[in-house]
Amino acid sequence: MNGKDNHRNSKADEKEIMRELDAFIKILFYKEKVYKRSSILANIKPEDAARIFRILYEKAEAKGLSDEELEQITGMRETQIRRILLLLLENKLVTYQRGRTKTGETRFFWRINKSTLNLILLNRKKNVLEKLKARYEFESENEIYVCPRCGARYAFPEALEYEFTCPRCGSELQLDEDREINLKILRRLIDSLQREIEQDEAQL
Ligand SMILES: [Zn+2]
Repeated sequence: MNGKDNHRNSKADEKEIMRELDAFIKILFYKEKVYKRSSILANIKPEDAARIFRILYEKAEAKGLSDEELEQITGMRETQIRRILLLLLENKLVTYQRGRTKTGETRFFWRINKSTLNLILLNRKKNVLEKLKARYEFESENEIYVCPRCGARYAFPEALEYEFTCPRCGSELQLDEDREINLKILRRLIDSLQREIEQDEAQL
C-alpha cells in the first residue's frame, strides 16, 4: 500500500462504522424526540438525521458543506436540515465554520467532527461491554428459566414468584438447558470486545 489511502480504513471497516453510526444517530434522535419530547424534532425522521450525517461523512471536504448544498443533495427543507444539524452539533458530532461560497455569500459550512467520533464509538463499545458483563454475571450466578413460547428469561427467584408460569404469555417456564453454551458465547463476545476496545484506546 502506498499513497494517500494509507490512513483510511478498509471498505468493510467503513461499512461497519457507518452501520454503527447510523444506529447511534437514530437512537440519539429517538431519545431527544421521545424522552425529551422535543417539539423541534417533531416532523423529522431519525432516518433523515442519519442521512445528513452520512452525507457529511462521505462528501464533505475539509471546508464542509453548506446548508444550501445539503438542501440540494437531499431535497429536504432547509429548516429541517438546520434542526438536524443543531442536534448533531449539540452532541458534538459535527462542527461548522463560517465561509464564503463561490458567489461570495457568507454561509456556514458543516463537517463531521472526526476526533470526537472515535471517542463516541469507543464509548458505545464500552457501554455494550458493561451490559454484556452484567448479563454474564446475572446468567452465571442464577439458574435461568426460559419461556418456550416467547423466549423471556427469568432468574430462579423471579420464576418462583411467577410459579413457573410466564407472566407475559402464560406458558410453563423451563430450566434453561443451554445455559452453559450461552455463557460460553457471552464470554467469547466479552473477550473479543475487550480486545477491540484496548486496540482502539491504543490508537487514540
Ligand atoms: Zn412467555
